[in-house]
Amino acid sequence: MVTTRSRQFASDNYAGICPEAMAAMMAANAGHQRSYGDDPYTQRACDLLRDLFEIDLQAFFVFNGTAANSLAISALCQSYHSVICGELAHVETDECGAPEFFSNGTKMLLASGQDAKIDPLSVEAIVRKRDDIHYPKPRVLSLTQATEVGTVYTPEELAALGHMARKHRLRVHMDGARFANAVASLGVSPKEITWQVGVDVLCFGGAKNGLALGEAVVFFDAQLAEEFDYRCKQAGQLASKMRFLSAPWVTMLENGTWLRHAGHANAMAAELEAGLRAIDGVGFLFPRQANSVFVQLPERAIDSLHQLGWHFYTFIGAGGARLMCSWDTQPEDVAALLADVRQVMAAP
Ligand SMILES: *Cc1c(COP(=O)(O)O)cnc(C)c1O
Repeated sequence: MVTTRSRQFASDNYAGICPEAMAAMMAANAGHQRSYGDDPYTQRACDLLRDLFEIDLQAFFVFNGTAANSLAISALCQSYHSVICGELAHVETDECGAPEFFSNGTKMLLASGQDAKIDPLSVEAIVRKRDDIHYPKPRVLSLTQATEVGTVYTPEELAALGHMARKHRLRVHMDGARFANAVASLGVSPKEITWQVGVDVLCFGGAKNGLALGEAVVFFDAQLAEEFDYRCKQAGQLASKMRFLSAPWVTMLENGTWLRHAGHANAMAAELEAGLRAIDGVGFLFPRQANSVFVQLPERAIDSLHQLGWHFYTFIGAGGARLMCSWDTQPEDVAALLADVRQVMAAP
């Protein structure tokens, strides 16, 4: 289906490829290169990730987030283990059982918390619930940063979760489909919300931040990355022309483009939120901390906005309308949407 508007607020994966990533792909297309990741772009992208996180690490590039999460989780546990994740976690609600599939049956156990951020006490309650052989043994704590509802864990909150995980011998996986937005929102260095607070593996998103495709699976513990290349290959996630996944990462990391785009998307969401707060009758479901705004609107207002050609989801996260900004959202897009929301909310 062709969208009549050039830019939408449906998802950050509606947006196209950013010019920097496109230029990097074009440059990587200049001639022949070694295949399956044995190329200088992939090498350089891994080195740049080491620089960014200020630690030695192992990184792998896969096609999408579902593969990144599922394969990362499968590297952390056995089939008889369980993964503690949030009720709204992408790994639970939006991956069609892929984490369980690639782990050969690992069970997801659902933890709760305010604004989709897992409460450490909820983790402890799940771990303590049973300790017998009949219960799938909790092995992994999976956190999403930024969360599915656009909130962001602070370094302190992550440290408390990391502490709880260590206490109960859980490994920590971070779904960072919007990690860049979280870093931009917090103004921290990436290490402060990953390995320094106990994260073992991060799935660092690229597609939602301007790449065509390609997520980085980043292991801070080299032992956990052992044979991960085989998992990727078996799962159909080893790109033969790997340079087209990794070269855009090189460009994005080299000059801070990844953070600039994420900061821009966050700023557009802040502007959208400010405008919406000035409109009577618009409710807010979650604190806006990254690049999405979750609003409660009357059903007829939602219908009218859809009829006006606006695309947005009403079933992602916890319902309401999710308005998502991207690296390429422009102030005039925000103004246009706000004008239409004002109009439909004022309609008798
Ligand atoms: C988009 C997203 C992913 C990745 O989804 P894919 O469609 O598999 O690339 C993972 N986690 C979260 C929280 C997401 O929003």
